[in-house]
Amino acid sequence: MGNPLRERRTAAEWAASGQVIEIAEKIGDFEQLAAIIDADLAALDAARMPVDWRTSAVEGRVEFGFADAQRLLPTAALGVVTTVDAVCQRCLEPFRLPLEAEADLLLLELEQTAEGYDDYEVWELEETQLRPLDIVEEMLVMTMPFSAMHVDSASCNALAPVTQAPDQDMTTPFAALREQMAQDK
Ligand SMILES: [Zn+2]
Repeated sequence: MGNPLRERRTAAEWAASGQVIEIAEKIGDFEQLAAIIDADLAALDAARMPVDWRTSAVEGRVEFGFADAQRLLPTAALGVVTTVDAVCQRCLEPFRLPLEAEADLLLLELEQTAEGYDDYEVWELEETQLRPLDIVEEMLVMTMPFSAMHVDSASCNALAPVTQAPDQDMTTPFAALREQMAQDK
């Protein structure tokens, strides 16, 4: 049996089927996303390169339906989680970055509009047929931070406390971040 994530059908067909697709993929199954991660990791020495970054699990579901009772407005509800390998832009060390995408999409043709559906994000259909994998991939790509960084200062080498008074611990990472952002401009 084929993987419905890779099937191409029109939005109306997906919606009419009411199909729920369980996502159980790997990062390597998403070419565009893998290319972005690959380019990011290229900054590392070969010895530091995470060897199995392509096999990280991508899990979640996509559920198709209609937003309206007349069944004219196809929707896709998406929830997907994964953890990718990334390079911290502050300390240049590899780290594991969790990504999570959740969206209620209204699948509209170009130039098509729908009033009163503000709870949905509009997904413009550039082709007649759509492949659920492409939606999952684009949503994940959009959650990739422009500049990936360790969130917790304890893990980040650039923010490792030198010898500070305890009451400075809260302010220093943000001050360092601000400084870094100012330099990047
Ligand atoms: Zn870091």
